Amino acid sequence: MKKYYQPEIETMPREALQKLQSEKLCKQVKHVYENVAYYRDLMDKAGVKPEDIHGIEDLHLLPFISKYDLREAYPTGFLAVPKERCVRVHSTSGTTGKRVIAYYTQHDIDLWEDCCARAITAAGADKGDTLQICYGYGLFTGGMGLHGGSHKVGCMTLPMSSGNTERQIQFMMDLEASVLCCTPSYAAYIAETLKEMGYTPDKIPLKAGIFGAEPWTREMRESIEKSLGIKAYDIYGLTEMSGPGVAFECEAQSGMHINEDHFIAEIIDPQTGEVLPEGSEGELVFTCLDKEAFPLLRYRTRDICILSSEPCPCGRTHIKMRKPMGRSDDMMIIRGVNVFPSQIEAVLVKRGYSTNYRIELDRVNNSDTFDIYVELTPEQFTDTVREISAMERFLEGAIHTMIGISPKVHLVAPKTIDRSDGKAVRVVDKRKLHD
Ligand code: ADP
Ligand code: ZN
Repeated sequence: MKKYYQPEIETMPREALQKLQSEKLCKQVKHVYENVAYYRDLMDKAGVKPEDIHGIEDLHLLPFISKYDLREAYPTGFLAVPKERCVRVHSTSGTTGKRVIAYYTQHDIDLWEDCCARAITAAGADKGDTLQICYGYGLFTGGMGLHGGSHKVGCMTLPMSSGNTERQIQFMMDLEASVLCCTPSYAAYIAETLKEMGYTPDKIPLKAGIFGAEPWTREMRESIEKSLGIKAYDIYGLTEMSGPGVAFECEAQSGMHINEDHFIAEIIDPQTGEVLPEGSEGELVFTCLDKEAFPLLRYRTRDICILSSEPCPCGRTHIKMRKPMGRSDDMMIIRGVNVFPSQIEAVLVKRGYSTNYRIELDRVNNSDTFDIYVELTPEQFTDTVREISAMERFLEGAIHTMIGISPKVHLVAPKTIDRSDGKAVRVVDKRKLHD
């Protein structure tokens, strides 16, 4: 079985990798300056010319791009080649507002698919494996990205797209799918459905899963691995860089290798924009190195993350990013305290509750209300009010210990919280309606 898809690149000594990055960066900056008026203006305002960029050590001179800029320049302001050279567009899921449109030449598609092929190989898949892809196909990058990667590796590709869970399971069983690709929340739903249908993990043909596109906790990973009898690999990406596969997990499962021959990662202080040293927590910023159609430089992702270049036992030399546990804009401020949904999920799953939960925030008499609806599993379900209420008080205490404020927990009957076949919606913030 192949260990790497592109061994010479994936295991390149860091010094050579950085030299390659420097060469590519100079070319990429020139390409952007010459072809993207919006960014040329930003560079001119910052007093930087392409000649000032001699290598990665000069990266900090370049101005940032944020989602705000992409919206300002919507839809073609960041397009760096004539439209007739493009072969495809995709768009973001619009999780946090207006969609962003990304353009691809054939070269851009190729490098993106290579990134996905690296991720698929790292998850232990090769020719002879059957990949069941139930990320959405269409404008969302999840489906098409892994689909292209799967072809490159030579796997049998099941282009299922999302939804129709019964049919997913029938194909999984009949065609003996060995690797499942979808969002972690959909994987949890598939696992739940399989269990209801009476399948035990040893009867499920899968050996691995490649799950991403949304934050998920370690606890959720363990629960999915156990219920499907697989090893679950994380994959990260964003439409603005290409799509899934910007970073992927190897067998060490201790962070995701960033494909540094195509993207440079930095961590900055989200307030001041200052570049932080390796190991600090901050906002992840990416610079494309060899994109043609939509090459973004120093793009602020709003994902909160930590980088580490410690050697990895898998032999890959590319830097690793910790699983991002939320975006700066996922962060809820409740009664003045910063809370991420992932912190709540960790408490729930650790205590044996399901990942089917919903957080509701509102404001009554000028103070924040904080309710969490958590679904009981069929095994936990009881109709004894006293028992339910004791469980609720216990969870309220555990969450208070984690985040410092108390929610009101409501345990609800199995199957009463909507499932997601794409990115799960965990938070309903009604306070925004009053603003
Ligand atoms: P949108 O911003 O509309 O959701 P995308 O579909 O391009 O658009 O999603 C990219 C975002 O999804 C990332 O910036 C990140 O917040 C999230 N994401 C992707 N993969 C992961 C992952 N493995 N873990 C956590 N978050 C992820
Ligand atoms: Zn590794």
